[in-house]
Amino acid sequence: MKVFKFGGASVNSIERIKQVASILTSYTGEPLLVVISAMGKTTNALEKVAEAFYQNRKEEALQLFEQVKQYHLTTAKYLLITHYNQAFEQLTQLFTEVEWALHDKPVRDFDYYYDQVVCLGELLSTTIISAYLNEQHILNSWIDIRDVFRTDNNFREAGIDWSVTGRHVKEKLLPAYTSAGIVVTQGFIGATDENESTTLGREGSDYTAAIFAALLQAESVTIWKDVEGVMNADPKLFESARVINELSYDEIIEMAYYGAQVIHPKTIKPLQNNHIPLYVKCFFDPSLPGTVIHNKSVRNLPPVIVVKSNQALVHLHSKDFSFMGEREMSGLYHLLKEHKTVANLVQTGAVRLMVCTDDREDRVDHLAASASELFDVQIERGLTLLTIRHYTTEAFTQLTADKAIILKQQSPETIQVLIKQAG
Ligand code: ASP
Ligand code: MG
Repeated sequence: MKVFKFGGASVNSIERIKQVASILTSYTGEPLLVVISAMGKTTNALEKVAEAFYQNRKEEALQLFEQVKQYHLTTAKYLLITHYNQAFEQLTQLFTEVEWALHDKPVRDFDYYYDQVVCLGELLSTTIISAYLNEQHILNSWIDIRDVFRTDNNFREAGIDWSVTGRHVKEKLLPAYTSAGIVVTQGFIGATDENESTTLGREGSDYTAAIFAALLQAESVTIWKDVEGVMNADPKLFESARVINELSYDEIIEMAYYGAQVIHPKTIKPLQNNHIPLYVKCFFDPSLPGTVIHNKSVRNLPPVIVVKSNQALVHLHSKDFSFMGEREMSGLYHLLKEHKTVANLVQTGAVRLMVCTDDREDRVDHLAASASELFDVQIERGLTLLTIRHYTTEAFTQLTADKAIILKQQSPETIQVLIKQAG
């Protein structure tokens, strides 16, 4: 058994869906679990529907939902011939599920409604793609993962119930392979024991693939992406970015920690625990080697560069010149937790602390306001955090030439600098 995952960018057009079919044809003959995300930016569009609904803008919610409907109906129309009617019926049923909900008034909290609406993206995409594959004689069974994937009711960040899900895999998922070698299902979503839909957190489809690989003791997981593999830098920012063909699980976790947007960080643990390799392959050209991520340690990695822009540095100075001790440090971490803020870098001195965080919405201002009870606070904005793993003097000099360095942190493996954003 192999597990494949296709992300939103791999299924956002007719051509790309056809490319999914072409990839799958070269793997017939072995059982496959195919996990698919919502098409393109559908999840963002559904988030807007949920927000409008929750803010009692019902007409707007219905109108926004209509756009999501039309997008999927048009895709189905262009893609399907013999299987169109059946898919149309299934899509209509799925639409109705949400439309009913949108006609009610919100009485529960936002996260609950978010999940009931947003889960639809994956259900719609898989319905269309499964029908298309069957029409192309790539026989597959479509499964509503909500019948299999049991979670708690921590809406928008639901946690898996491994034992119930494991039982469902045996009772409901595996039997589907008696009629077809491929099962097509949704990433990112699940359901509680009361049949309420849940989601696992944005970009959670990678995690879904890893969970099922672990439960199925799969041979491997392959994430098909619109890049050539995991790269040592963002190719949009660095022309010299190149693919790294082999990485350890530990390295990919480090990269994710420093902000590289490669793979959902929760994905690695189930795979590492079960020694299942993870391949990141190029969706457009499957003949390219891509990247394999596994347990072996990998030497001689090139410098790995991660750039996080729009950072704020919060300077906290003790009010009475007392030294920074555990009271101040724990005060700081309590504040971070309370404001749901992640520290991207912390530096301590005798009487001051510096915390670098993403400068999102007005979170930093709220954090600063609360912190001012304990400290004298100043905020420095418009910064970029540059991280280089496996740095060399050459790479460091090249990347920081002519830059105003505000702060620097260094370990044998990793160097981080905070620099003033240009302009
Ligand atoms: N569709 C979801 C998202 O956009 C999950 C995923 O793509 O992994 O976040
Ligand atoms: Mg995605």
